[in-house]
Amino acid sequence: MSYRIGIGYDIHKLVKGRKLVLGGILVPFDKGLLAYSDGDVVIHAICDALLGASGLGDIGLHFPDSDKKYKGISSLELLKETVNKVRACGCEIINIDTVIIADKPKLSPYRKAMVDKLQQALKVNNGVVNIKAATNEGIGPVGSRAIASYAVALLEKDV
Ligand code: MG
Repeated sequence: MSYRIGIGYDIHKLVKGRKLVLGGILVPFDKGLLAYSDGDVVIHAICDALLGASGLGDIGLHFPDSDKKYKGISSLELLKETVNKVRACGCEIINIDTVIIADKPKLSPYRKAMVDKLQQALKVNNGVVNIKAATNEGIGPVGSRAIASYAVALLEKDV
């Protein structure tokens, strides 16, 4: 057995007329994230952390936005496909930790629902996924004009 660690980061711009989807959950807000998919920065960061830890590249390589089948797709589908690829190369998830950076809306009421939804999509036990939300204290565009997310993943590989 060997341990593998991966890091992921994503950011999307907040715009009017889009739904806000974070951690696979619809969060009521007057803006959403502009993206080719549903713009779920939390899932995109997790996918990159998982792919990075597995040595499989990044999300853009596996799900290119030049491919029409990914237009408007729920990122939960990308996450399910990603974890299948991760398991296919002999890796299992030990834990995933994430940070969401958003000044608004307040995300703590949705944290548990996000964790449950992600653990279900990843087919992992309770306690494997952790989500933290932070504000950027109104400093600069991150958190106010855009929402960003970081993720780290620790995997165990069968070699
Ligand atoms: Mg993205």
